Amino acid sequence: MHSVNFPLPGEQEAPIDYFSRWHANVAPTGLYGINIPSRYGGLGLGHWDRFEAIADMSRRDTSAGAILQSVTLGTGMFLSASEQLREMWLPKLATGEEIATICITEPKSGARIGSLETTLSPALDEGYVLTGSKQFIANAHVGTVHGVIAKRASSDRSALRHTGVIVPSRSAGVETGAVDDLDGLKHFNVGGIRFNNVRVPAEHVLLGNKGLQLAHRSITLFGKLNLAAVAYGALLRSWDETQNYLSSDTGRAKQLEQIGAIRGLIGEVQRCISESRALCFSAAHSIDCGEPEEDLILAAKASTVNHAISGILACISIMGARGGSAAAGHVTRLSDVIQTMAPAGTESVNLAQLSKFALGKYKEVGIYGS
Ligand SMILES: Cc1cc2nc3c(=O)[nH]c(=O)nc-3n(C[C@H](O)[C@H](O)[C@H](O)COP(=O)(O)OP(=O)(O)OC[C@H]3O[C@@H](n4cnc5c(N)ncnc54)[C@H](O)[C@@H]3O)c2cc1C
Repeated sequence: MHSVNFPLPGEQEAPIDYFSRWHANVAPTGLYGINIPSRYGGLGLGHWDRFEAIADMSRRDTSAGAILQSVTLGTGMFLSASEQLREMWLPKLATGEEIATICITEPKSGARIGSLETTLSPALDEGYVLTGSKQFIANAHVGTVHGVIAKRASSDRSALRHTGVIVPSRSAGVETGAVDDLDGLKHFNVGGIRFNNVRVPAEHVLLGNKGLQLAHRSITLFGKLNLAAVAYGALLRSWDETQNYLSSDTGRAKQLEQIGAIRGLIGEVQRCISESRALCFSAAHSIDCGEPEEDLILAAKASTVNHAISGILACISIMGARGGSAAAGHVTRLSDVIQTMAPAGTESVNLAQLSKFALGKYKEVGIYGS
């Protein structure tokens, strides 16, 4: 991947202001459409390319990388849509003219996606009506089109099914809610969206009743490696800062590299980097080959985030008191990486899925249509 120019956030800059500056720089590069096939105007690159682009941006600034992961995650759902919807939306998503969000999490439904309460009901004339409230949605206030997972209303409870719908943010009844004030990723917009009796045309319903599969597919094929890439990029930056310190006048005067215990910590950082890279590469490569190895993808998310946390802690130890300094940025990055734990599956969710895989009970999410 070629290096992309993007603005670094100002210390006190609000996420929405930062997003505007970031967007103005990044949209012309085509990165919004990194995985969108070229016939729809995208770059047509692979999942490993996306991983590297997000990691590279996160290495320079974690919030900037988190934004790139979120806008590319948003396109994941659209790749599973009908050809008609793909032709309608993908060219605009590829240029950043439209910015997609994925709306799954709700105030009372997080890890257990099946328990969500947002409802899609048949309208009296034609089409559907969407009602519900979403929370912790990346780009809630800057997204222009929402991919929403909802439950289909039915008089027969046993027939309740989940579905995915496309809802432009300009639709009547769509309202943004509060910004979720995260203690990390300070320049990344995450917040609530309400859908108050929003009209949804029948052709904006995705994959019929397979809404949960659609959600799991977007999270598995895009979200997990995206969040892993943010965490991995943050770890690389912490190691950059640590190396700079070790080779500085102070670091050299202290001869830190000669100390056995410090060598052990350096080895630990490298192990975290090498294992994360190997696992994420294998996982991304399997998707690029059209045969996702979903156990690798689940493991890549869980392990890479953990490796980033322990690797950054090791960097802090190597630098002693300076490891906690604002200039080194390790503590801020640690807070950023903590924010990658919940989205796209917490560790406990990924382990629960891996246990199903081990016991032969895991349900594959499948690959999106070509
Ligand atoms: C930075 C950030 C960006 C996000 N972006 C989005 C977005 O764009 N779109 C979106 O829809 N959501 C988004 N989320 C929300 C994220 O997907 C949820 O936080 C996540 O699904 C967990 O839900 P929860 O926080 O409600 O935790 P809960 O569901 O309340 O779970 C609490 C704890 O219990 C564990 N747990 C619960 N049920 C199970 C189970 N069945 N098996 C194993 N463990 C379980 C969880 O793993 C977790 O550790 C984002 C969150 C953050 C922090």
